[in-house]
Amino acid sequence: MTQRIAVYGGSFDPFHTGHLVPTVRAQETFKFDAVFFVPAGNPPHKQDEPLTPITHRLSMVAMATLPYERFFASDDEVFVDGPTYTVETVKRYRERFPHAGLYFLLGSDSFSQISTWNRWIELVNHAHLVVLHRAHIWGSELRQRVPEELRSRLVEVEPFADVPDPTEQTVYLLNHDPFPVSATDVRQRQRQGLPIRELVPHEVNSYIEKYRLYRTDDEG
Ligand code: ATP
Repeated sequence: MTQRIAVYGGSFDPFHTGHLVPTVRAQETFKFDAVFFVPAGNPPHKQDEPLTPITHRLSMVAMATLPYERFFASDDEVFVDGPTYTVETVKRYRERFPHAGLYFLLGSDSFSQISTWNRWIELVNHAHLVVLHRAHIWGSELRQRVPEELRSRLVEVEPFADVPDPTEQTVYLLNHDPFPVSATDVRQRQRQGLPIRELVPHEVNSYIEKYRLYRTDDEG
Protein backbone atom coordinates (compact mmCIF):
# COMPACT_ATOMS: atom_id res chain seq x y z
CA MET A 1 0.00 0.00 0.00
CA THR A 2 1.22 3.51 -0.79
CA GLN A 3 2.05 5.66 2.21
CA ARG A 4 -1.07 7.62 3.21
CA ILE A 5 -0.82 11.14 4.58
CA ALA A 6 -3.85 13.07 5.75
CA VAL A 7 -4.19 16.80 6.32
CA TYR A 8 -7.05 18.26 8.33
CA GLY A 9 -7.35 22.04 8.33
CA GLY A 10 -9.63 24.03 10.57
CA SER A 11 -9.95 26.95 12.93
CA PHE A 12 -9.97 24.53 15.87
CA ASP A 13 -11.26 27.33 18.07
CA PRO A 14 -11.34 25.15 20.09
CA PHE A 15 -10.46 21.63 18.95
CA HIS A 16 -13.44 19.47 19.96
CA THR A 17 -14.65 15.89 19.88
CA GLY A 18 -16.49 16.58 16.60
CA HIS A 19 -13.03 17.01 15.07
CA LEU A 20 -11.42 14.13 16.93
CA VAL A 21 -13.95 11.28 16.86
CA PRO A 22 -14.76 11.36 13.11
CA THR A 23 -11.01 11.50 12.40
CA VAL A 24 -10.50 8.40 14.52
CA ARG A 25 -13.22 6.75 12.38
CA ALA A 26 -11.37 7.88 9.25
CA GLN A 27 -8.09 6.56 10.66
CA GLU A 28 -9.66 3.17 11.41
CA THR A 29 -10.86 3.02 7.83
CA PHE A 30 -8.05 4.55 5.76
CA LYS A 31 -5.13 3.50 8.01
CA PHE A 32 -3.26 6.77 7.50
CA ASP A 33 0.44 6.75 8.26
CA ALA A 34 0.03 10.24 9.67
CA VAL A 35 -2.74 12.80 10.11
CA PHE A 36 -1.64 16.43 10.38
CA PHE A 37 -4.09 18.84 12.01
CA VAL A 38 -3.34 22.33 10.73
CA PRO A 39 -4.86 25.22 12.72
CA ALA A 40 -5.78 27.93 10.24
CA GLY A 41 -3.65 31.07 10.34
CA ASN A 42 -5.85 33.75 8.83
CA PRO A 43 -8.66 31.93 7.04
CA PRO A 44 -10.26 34.32 4.54
CA HIS A 45 -13.81 32.99 5.19
CA LYS A 46 -13.74 33.55 8.98
CA GLN A 47 -12.96 37.24 9.08
CA ASP A 48 -16.15 38.32 10.85
CA GLU A 49 -15.28 36.95 14.30
CA PRO A 50 -11.69 37.28 15.55
CA LEU A 51 -10.06 33.92 16.19
CA THR A 52 -8.31 32.99 19.42
CA PRO A 53 -4.53 33.44 18.91
CA ILE A 54 -3.09 30.59 16.89
CA THR A 55 -0.62 29.74 19.66
CA HIS A 56 -3.54 28.72 21.91
CA ARG A 57 -5.32 26.86 19.12
CA LEU A 58 -2.14 24.98 18.18
CA SER A 59 -1.47 24.10 21.84
CA MET A 60 -4.98 22.68 22.23
CA VAL A 61 -4.55 20.54 19.11
CA ALA A 62 -1.13 19.35 20.28
CA MET A 63 -2.44 18.31 23.68
CA ALA A 64 -5.58 16.65 22.36
CA THR A 65 -3.67 14.59 19.79
CA LEU A 66 -0.85 13.51 22.12
CA PRO A 67 -2.50 10.16 22.98
CA TYR A 68 -2.90 9.28 19.29
CA GLU A 69 0.27 7.83 17.87
CA ARG A 70 -0.35 8.92 14.28
CA PHE A 71 -2.04 12.28 14.88
CA PHE A 72 0.12 15.41 14.82
CA ALA A 73 -0.35 19.14 15.35
CA SER A 74 1.10 21.19 12.54
CA ASP A 75 2.46 24.74 12.77
CA ASP A 76 2.30 25.18 8.99
CA GLU A 77 0.06 28.24 9.08
CA VAL A 78 1.51 29.84 12.20
CA PHE A 79 4.14 31.94 10.50
CA VAL A 80 2.28 32.88 7.34
CA ASP A 81 1.56 36.59 6.88
CA GLY A 82 -1.72 37.58 5.25
CA PRO A 83 -4.55 35.22 4.40
CA THR A 84 -3.83 31.51 4.54
CA TYR A 85 -5.25 29.30 1.82
CA THR A 86 -5.82 25.58 2.21
CA VAL A 87 -4.57 24.97 -1.31
CA GLU A 88 -1.14 26.36 -0.38
CA THR A 89 -0.93 24.22 2.75
CA VAL A 90 -1.92 21.07 0.86
CA LYS A 91 0.65 21.83 -1.84
CA ARG A 92 3.33 22.07 0.86
CA TYR A 93 2.41 18.55 2.01
CA ARG A 94 2.54 17.34 -1.58
CA GLU A 95 6.12 18.64 -1.79
CA ARG A 96 7.04 17.08 1.55
CA PHE A 97 5.58 13.70 0.69
CA PRO A 98 5.94 13.50 -3.09
CA HIS A 99 5.24 9.76 -3.31
CA ALA A 100 2.47 9.47 -0.73
CA GLY A 101 -1.25 9.29 -1.29
CA LEU A 102 -2.44 12.65 0.02
CA TYR A 103 -5.89 13.00 1.65
CA PHE A 104 -7.59 16.17 2.82
CA LEU A 105 -10.19 15.74 5.58
CA LEU A 106 -13.16 18.05 5.96
CA GLY A 107 -16.70 18.04 7.32
CA SER A 108 -19.65 17.71 4.95
CA ASP A 109 -20.74 21.32 5.68
CA SER A 110 -17.37 22.60 4.47
CA PHE A 111 -17.38 20.25 1.51
CA SER A 112 -20.78 21.54 0.42
CA GLN A 113 -19.19 24.99 0.07
CA ILE A 114 -15.93 23.94 -1.48
CA SER A 115 -16.58 25.78 -4.73
CA THR A 116 -16.24 29.05 -2.77
CA TRP A 117 -12.69 28.16 -1.67
CA ASN A 118 -9.72 29.85 -3.24
CA ARG A 119 -8.38 27.76 -6.17
CA TRP A 120 -10.51 24.80 -5.12
CA ILE A 121 -9.98 22.87 -8.35
CA GLU A 122 -6.24 22.95 -7.75
CA LEU A 123 -6.88 21.71 -4.22
CA VAL A 124 -8.99 18.72 -5.27
CA ASN A 125 -6.43 17.85 -7.92
CA HIS A 126 -3.66 17.68 -5.32
CA ALA A 127 -5.42 15.55 -2.73
CA HIS A 128 -8.19 13.02 -2.36
CA LEU A 129 -10.93 14.31 -0.11
CA VAL A 130 -12.36 12.44 2.86
CA VAL A 131 -15.69 14.02 3.75
CA LEU A 132 -16.77 13.50 7.36
CA HIS A 133 -20.44 13.18 8.16
CA ARG A 134 -21.78 16.33 9.75
CA ALA A 135 -25.40 15.62 10.53
CA HIS A 136 -27.22 18.56 9.04
CA ILE A 137 -25.87 17.98 5.58
CA TRP A 138 -25.50 14.50 4.12
CA GLY A 139 -27.11 12.17 1.62
CA SER A 140 -29.13 13.63 -1.22
CA GLU A 141 -28.89 17.19 0.12
CA LEU A 142 -25.12 17.02 0.06
CA ARG A 143 -25.04 15.41 -3.37
CA GLN A 144 -27.15 18.24 -4.78
CA ARG A 145 -24.63 20.79 -3.57
CA VAL A 146 -21.56 18.98 -4.90
CA PRO A 147 -19.99 20.90 -7.78
CA GLU A 148 -20.68 19.22 -11.12
CA GLU A 149 -16.97 18.59 -11.66
CA LEU A 150 -16.75 16.38 -8.57
CA ARG A 151 -19.89 14.25 -8.96
CA SER A 152 -18.12 11.44 -10.79
CA ARG A 153 -15.43 11.30 -8.11
CA LEU A 154 -17.78 10.50 -5.23
CA VAL A 155 -17.28 7.16 -3.50
CA GLU A 156 -19.22 6.20 -0.37
CA VAL A 157 -17.21 4.33 2.23
CA GLU A 158 -18.45 2.51 5.30
CA PRO A 159 -16.34 2.77 8.47
CA PHE A 160 -13.76 -0.03 8.76
CA ALA A 161 -14.11 -0.90 5.08
CA ASP A 162 -10.95 -1.90 3.30
CA VAL A 163 -10.14 1.05 1.02
CA PRO A 164 -7.72 0.19 -1.79
CA ASP A 165 -5.33 2.84 -3.10
CA PRO A 166 -7.33 4.95 -5.56
CA THR A 167 -6.17 5.11 -9.16
CA GLU A 168 -7.60 8.59 -9.71
CA GLN A 169 -8.52 11.61 -7.58
CA THR A 170 -11.41 10.57 -5.38
CA VAL A 171 -13.87 12.18 -2.98
CA TYR A 172 -14.74 9.70 -0.24
CA LEU A 173 -17.94 10.20 1.74
CA LEU A 174 -17.28 8.42 5.03
CA ASN A 175 -20.57 7.08 6.28
CA HIS A 176 -19.85 7.17 10.02
CA ASP A 177 -22.33 8.14 12.73
CA PRO A 178 -22.33 11.94 13.00
CA PHE A 179 -20.84 13.54 16.04
CA PRO A 180 -22.83 16.73 16.51
CA VAL A 181 -20.47 19.16 18.21
CA SER A 182 -19.45 22.60 16.95
CA ALA A 183 -16.86 25.08 18.17
CA THR A 184 -19.51 27.81 18.16
CA ASP A 185 -21.53 25.77 20.62
CA VAL A 186 -18.49 25.13 22.84
CA ARG A 187 -17.61 28.85 22.92
CA GLN A 188 -21.18 29.86 23.66
CA ARG A 189 -21.53 27.36 26.49
CA GLN A 190 -18.25 28.46 28.00
CA ARG A 191 -19.36 32.10 27.84
CA GLN A 192 -22.57 31.15 29.62
CA GLY A 193 -20.72 29.18 32.28
CA LEU A 194 -22.21 25.84 31.13
CA PRO A 195 -20.09 22.68 31.22
CA ILE A 196 -18.16 21.76 28.07
CA ARG A 197 -16.51 18.62 29.47
CA GLU A 198 -18.41 16.26 27.17
CA LEU A 199 -17.70 18.34 24.07
CA VAL A 200 -13.91 18.66 24.12
CA PRO A 201 -11.05 16.26 24.93
CA HIS A 202 -10.23 16.54 28.62
CA GLU A 203 -6.82 18.13 27.89
CA VAL A 204 -8.60 20.88 25.98
CA ASN A 205 -11.08 21.36 28.79
CA SER A 206 -8.22 21.85 31.28
CA TYR A 207 -6.42 24.20 28.90
CA ILE A 208 -9.52 26.35 28.36
CA GLU A 209 -10.02 26.58 32.11
CA LYS A 210 -6.39 27.35 32.86
CA TYR A 211 -6.06 30.12 30.25
CA ARG A 212 -9.65 31.29 30.77
CA LEU A 213 -10.49 31.16 27.08
CA TYR A 214 -13.92 32.08 25.73
CA ARG A 215 -14.85 34.07 28.83
CA THR A 216 -16.61 37.38 28.74
CA ASP A 217 -15.58 38.41 32.27
CA ASP A 218 -11.87 38.98 31.67
CA GLU A 219 -11.46 37.75 28.07
CA GLY A 220 -8.65 35.39 29.15
P1 ATP B 1 -17.28 27.00 14.17
O1 ATP B 1 -18.47 26.52 14.95
O2 ATP B 1 -16.45 28.02 14.89
O3 ATP B 1 -17.65 27.42 12.76
P2 ATP B 1 -16.48 24.26 13.63
O4 ATP B 1 -17.01 23.47 14.78
O5 ATP B 1 -17.22 24.16 12.33
O6 ATP B 1 -16.26 25.77 14.04
P3 ATP B 1 -13.86 24.34 12.41
O7 ATP B 1 -12.58 24.26 13.14
O8 ATP B 1 -14.24 25.64 11.81
O9 ATP B 1 -14.99 23.80 13.45
O10 ATP B 1 -13.95 23.22 11.32
C1 ATP B 1 -12.84 22.61 10.74
C2 ATP B 1 -13.31 21.43 9.94
O11 ATP B 1 -13.91 20.48 10.83
C3 ATP B 1 -14.36 21.74 8.89
O12 ATP B 1 -14.07 20.98 7.73
C4 ATP B 1 -15.65 21.26 9.53
O13 ATP B 1 -16.60 20.87 8.57
C5 ATP B 1 -15.16 20.08 10.33
N1 ATP B 1 -15.99 19.78 11.49
C6 ATP B 1 -16.19 20.55 12.56
N2 ATP B 1 -17.02 19.95 13.43
C7 ATP B 1 -17.36 18.75 12.89
C8 ATP B 1 -18.20 17.67 13.31
N3 ATP B 1 -18.87 17.72 14.45
N4 ATP B 1 -18.30 16.61 12.49
C9 ATP B 1 -17.62 16.56 11.31
N5 ATP B 1 -16.82 17.54 10.86
C10 ATP B 1 -16.69 18.64 11.63
